[in-house]
Amino acid sequence: MPDRRIELTAPVDLDQLACSACSWRAAAKPELWGCPECSAPVEFALRADIQLDQTALSGEGLARYAAWLGFGAEHLLTLGEVRTPLLRPSSPPGTLLKSETVMPTGSFKDRGAATLVSWLAERGTARIVVDSSGNAGAALAAYAARAGIACEVHIPSDASPVKSRQACAYGASVVLHPGPRAASTTGAQRAAQEASAVYASQLWHPAFLLGIETLAFELWEQYDRSTPDTIVVPVGAGSLLLGIERGLRALIAAGLLIEMPRLIGVQSSSCTAIAAHFGDAGVNGTARRSIAEGIQVADPPRLRQIIDAIAGSGGTALCVDDTAIRADQHALAREGVLVEPTAAVALAGLKLARERDLLDPEERAVAVLTGTGLKTIYDPQ
Ligand SMILES: [Zn+2]
Repeated sequence: MPDRRIELTAPVDLDQLACSACSWRAAAKPELWGCPECSAPVEFALRADIQLDQTALSGEGLARYAAWLGFGAEHLLTLGEVRTPLLRPSSPPGTLLKSETVMPTGSFKDRGAATLVSWLAERGTARIVVDSSGNAGAALAAYAARAGIACEVHIPSDASPVKSRQACAYGASVVLHPGPRAASTTGAQRAAQEASAVYASQLWHPAFLLGIETLAFELWEQYDRSTPDTIVVPVGAGSLLLGIERGLRALIAAGLLIEMPRLIGVQSSSCTAIAAHFGDAGVNGTARRSIAEGIQVADPPRLRQIIDAIAGSGGTALCVDDTAIRADQHALAREGVLVEPTAAVALAGLKLARERDLLDPEERAVAVLTGTGLKTIYDPQ
């Protein structure tokens, strides 16, 4: 495909917010993370003239795509993100693994943290409060430290302890919440309000999703200006899946990609709001806790968008149980790839999709390994 030498234009307007459900629009401010009229998630207003200039691509990591994201490269914080590698597992055939374990804080959340904190820093934010099951809290704490922004992380008390210690090490203060994952969300929102701080939400804020788009851009480059047939990702709050989908849609809108690959979202059988919609309700119901703590989200704010993104790609969602997750975590480790349980969900889901003949034998598939296993070292007995 020839280079498109056209005027640089960002696909979204980083200074305008629009509601995803009603007609509300306003100038973007750090404290606006949900629609004040109807409480739906907000988005950056789309610009009609979506253009992605391939000649603007230079350098490594997120900075390579700064212009595509609407950032000046000098305004995008960096901790040395890399283009994450594609690894070939011993099985199933035709599969590649995109390993986000090598990102600066050990997970794909660095992509969204870089853009969200950069966006907030540019707008003079001095203090943020965040909620997380662990990885996003560590990522946001790291990029906040880079920006000189004070950070408070609200995290479930039964999350992997290394993740909260990691956030502490970056200088964040950590507040532990007993009970379900949602208790950390309400705790963070309340604390932000009381302290007049910014609720910097990976679940709600479109600037977080913006950074995840770079994963799709990387795949497109790694597949020689194309994509695999199917992309399989763990899904909880949906930031990974939605970010990838938005990146792919931007490429299609710019004429740089012809066809949308299928997106398959994989949940644990303990948290199945999305899989249930596609007819896979699991066996454990929704009350039990899974080892896949990163996708333990019972009520995703962007549920409708996640379902539409999957359906619009011709994909599906399914769920896997802890036994399958642990087996694939173990199998990957025995091939030298150390991931956390939430990351193994993608490979377990991909195998299940093949077992159910949801994928053609010749189909090229990529499973995204979302985070390192160094934070969740387990007893390999
Ligand atoms: Zn609204």
